[in-house]
Amino acid sequence: MSHEVPSRPAIAELPELVKNQIAAGEVIERPASVVKELVENALDAGAARIHLDLEEGGVALIRIVDDGGGIPPAEIPLAFASHATSKLSDVADLDHIATLGFRGEALASIASVARCRMFSRLRGAPLGASVEIEGGRLGEIRESGGPEGTRVEVRDLFFNTPARRRFLKTTATELGRALDIVQRLALAQPGVGFVVTHDGRRAFEVEPAMDLRARVRRTFGAELADALAPVEARDGDTVLSGFVAPPRFARNDTTRQMWFLNGRPLRDKILARVLKDAYRGFIVDGRQAVAFLSLAMDPAKVDVNVHPAKAEVRFRDERRMFGFLVASLRGAVSALDMATPGERMIDSAARRDGPAPLARQFTLPAPAWQLQPEPRPRELPVFVRESAPAEATPATGAAASPASSEPAAAPRPTPVRGPLLQVGRTYILVANDDGFEIVDQHALHERLTLEDLKAELARGAVEVQRRLVPELVEVGGAAAELVEPHLESLARIGLLLARFGSGTIAVHGAPARFRRADPSALVHEVIAAVERTGGAPGAEDLLEEILHRTACRSSVMAGDELSELEMRALLSRARDESNAQTCAHGRPTRVRFTLADLEKAFYRR
Ligand code: ADP
Ligand code: MG
Repeated sequence: MSHEVPSRPAIAELPELVKNQIAAGEVIERPASVVKELVENALDAGAARIHLDLEEGGVALIRIVDDGGGIPPAEIPLAFASHATSKLSDVADLDHIATLGFRGEALASIASVARCRMFSRLRGAPLGASVEIEGGRLGEIRESGGPEGTRVEVRDLFFNTPARRRFLKTTATELGRALDIVQRLALAQPGVGFVVTHDGRRAFEVEPAMDLRARVRRTFGAELADALAPVEARDGDTVLSGFVAPPRFARNDTTRQMWFLNGRPLRDKILARVLKDAYRGFIVDGRQAVAFLSLAMDPAKVDVNVHPAKAEVRFRDERRMFGFLVASLRGAVSALDMATPGERMIDSAARRDGPAPLARQFTLPAPAWQLQPEPRPRELPVFVRESAPAEATPATGAAASPASSEPAAAPRPTPVRGPLLQVGRTYILVANDDGFEIVDQHALHERLTLEDLKAELARGAVEVQRRLVPELVEVGGAAAELVEPHLESLARIGLLLARFGSGTIAVHGAPARFRRADPSALVHEVIAAVERTGGAPGAEDLLEEILHRTACRSSVMAGDELSELEMRALLSRARDESNAQTCAHGRPTRVRFTLADLEKAFYRR
């Protein structure tokens, strides 16, 4: 018997260079990935100042200079060898990684796809050493002078792997990604200074002493930085700290949700979920909160070795962690000031219409002949200043001025003693000590209805209005099928539904608060909610979802003319309700104009 053996190449070990290029494929995708690895190395070396020069978005050159501990000349060749590291020596060390790097692969990978040069001088040593390495070939180690610390130059990235090079985007895009990496690391590591230049021009800088808020200001601007509210919480030796931003800063993406674990920026699904839960009901659907949060914890309680880029982690006790984080953040988030500041609207109006403030002209002393007392115009109630500010906030009990007795970040309560004015059957104008607020009566009432329903639900006492004759709602077989397993949970929230024939739902009763709810609309809300949550029967999620949707439908305040008394009642209820700053769908319930805003709007300053 003879077999036709097709000719095949023999199995052979790959040359070192090729191995490293394959490894580089995993972690070195673009200049930003080189930047990340090099900055992490500098941070692991204990640098207090890191200087980065980029050319052509980092493709032509990435040069990093740090003032960290340095490398002894004899170890420089090892730094470029794959799987060689000073951060890990046996497998047990993997359980408690406290450095950003540990795989010992970055420099070897980078050196296999670029022309590199390194100079390093150990702290305290009289001299340092330098070496060149190109396409994986290490040159001679030369003793030479230079500052303590390490300098690495990476030129012509992917010069020998053209396929990779073709995937690079424009200079602006590559620079943007590299800057994004540096900025994240700079936010993760207060205490370390960063300077980045691009083609000789300064692109980013933070000084070592700048704290997290100052770094956010430098990176994303003062408006966001000034609005942040601090978070501080502890569970055993796990410490959560950082800032949450008011809902109005929410975005369409999660790029400004930054989590840092022991100084390492993370992108983690669990942490994204934590923020979703913490902001639930305060943010409009589909928008993403902005927050900058650091977790300090025992490295043994988290596994960072799940992903080559080390951006994801696994917490050893995930449930506990999740509960701790959501509870701590929820507290901080509900204390945020959520009113839309009028100042922003004035700013955008001014930008549209152009004229520069004429402040100086207005502050000139008026000529004497203009000082004749004019007949007092009839005052518009909304602009009247209140005369007795202390009494306006009986809830605080103290006679102290309300502004100073409040913690800095807490929302100012809406005073309800001043004059009220309803506008367009939709908005209520409320004068307060420092300006006025515009309250969206519908949004506010919707929130209050939701909170009432939740409270009734928590007491197990939802007040139900039963119908003498059930209303039949045609929904089709599939939808009826979908709702059927949830009938019991729905009854708990006061929705008495029953299946009637194959494609019909009979409405026997609804919560008394849903005075206006049209039974058919109600049933369709239920179907939509079940579809959206896809929930397990009885899931709290489903209940909450339906509450959210139906609270909106049942609000009696949409387009209603309100008496002064009704307005007052609505507003004073809002003061006692901690969630009343947003409607059930996360839209703000009020816009605030301070006197300062008004002065700005009238170009008085
Ligand atoms: P890793 O960071 O995973 O250990 P790298 O390939 O990035 O692997 O670096 C290899 C080793 O080179 C590090 O373990 C460290 O000892 C040394 N090294 C690299 N960069 C620096 C630096 N900037 N300062 C001091 N030592 C460095
Ligand atoms: Mg490294």
